[in-house]
Amino acid sequence: MSIEKTKIYPINTGWVTLDHAVYLFNKGTPGKNIDIPNICFYVDTGEHKLMIDTGLPDAERATKYHHDCTKRGCPDSPDALKAMGIDPCEIDVCIFTHLHWDHCHNMKQFRNARYIASPTEIQWAYNPLPPYYRSYEAPILGVEPPFMGCQFEVVEGETEIVPGVKVFPTPGHTPGHIAAQVETTAGRCVIVGDAIFTYRNFEPKVEEHWRYWIQNRMVNQIDGWKSYEEIDRRADFILPFHEERVLEHSVYPYEGMPVREKRVRIAGAPFYFSGI
Ligand SMILES: [Zn+2]
Repeated sequence: MSIEKTKIYPINTGWVTLDHAVYLFNKGTPGKNIDIPNICFYVDTGEHKLMIDTGLPDAERATKYHHDCTKRGCPDSPDALKAMGIDPCEIDVCIFTHLHWDHCHNMKQFRNARYIASPTEIQWAYNPLPPYYRSYEAPILGVEPPFMGCQFEVVEGETEIVPGVKVFPTPGHTPGHIAAQVETTAGRCVIVGDAIFTYRNFEPKVEEHWRYWIQNRMVNQIDGWKSYEEIDRRADFILPFHEERVLEHSVYPYEGMPVREKRVRIAGAPFYFSGI
């Protein structure tokens, strides 16, 4: 493995409109809509080419089954790679943080890849709780989910996938959610999936004495909060999938990139879990 060669490239596959309070922020402003990007990441370690999730489908399907979607010229993930001179067949690993629709479309185009996910995630994707039928594009809606028929390599607990790239459990948004941890010259990058939606979620909501302004869209807030604290403990930098500021740079790490301080204590907004 060569940390010097490891580069991470964000790929925006399109924009969707979500309600500030229903999805993005616990105790957010109801009725206020926000447009968020739907990013996935291409990771090149020099020896391996990986995708961390594979992004959105076309705007018509996204809008029909999910949220108002506009591509604004964003390509699907296989086309984004081709524009970078990479054939999707060169990708040898696809890590899926979770199997929600906006994270795994077009996955079958990466036909030489190992597909990595947690067994808990696969189980819930194939048999979702009814309020999550749309999130997983359940066949009861008359659609075929993007992962249907794919053979997965299942990972439980913290697991090395290729040298310099690990996954670890970050449940909360979904029961089997995982995050990818990538070693780089700027330290440990955690590509968080939907464990954390945006950078603002990771900052305090001081008037409520919350150390993090956690997102509302979670199946389990206790696990979700714990995953925030675990990411805070590990990460030198964080790449969320619905954060517009991630798109300010076409490659990570970049020259002069600041490294975050881990687990900073803030008066009046305590951590909850000790020993993390
Ligand atoms: Zn999700």
